[in-house]
Amino acid sequence: MPIDPDFQAHRSAQVHGNRKVGHDGDSSKLGIYGTDVAVDFDLCVGDGACIDVCPVNVFEWEGEGADRKAMPSRERDCIYCFGCEAVCPKFAIRVTPLVIK
Ligand code: SF4
Repeated sequence: MPIDPDFQAHRSAQVHGNRKVGHDGDSSKLGIYGTDVAVDFDLCVGDGACIDVCPVNVFEWEGEGADRKAMPSRERDCIYCFGCEAVCPKFAIRVTPLVIK
């Protein structure tokens, strides 16, 4: 199952440091990190495809070894090329362009 494309409506966001994490009420799950560029940590297998493809280095590693995840630490730098969504083998990433109102 891919990341829920409507996760921002379906999940309650908690702030951890300077990051928002969307939880679905299941405390055993890691949650979805980020907003404009979001990574479902319960799906991410840490293969690094998004880190390799991103032209503006939005992602950085969080954790080590088999437990490492791709953290969208600089999502405000995203240029919305959607490369990360395309290469993720687990469909764990959702990119939502900012709408200026
Ligand atoms: S959409 Fe493109 S620029 Fe934005 S995080 Fe993904 S790979 Fe990087």
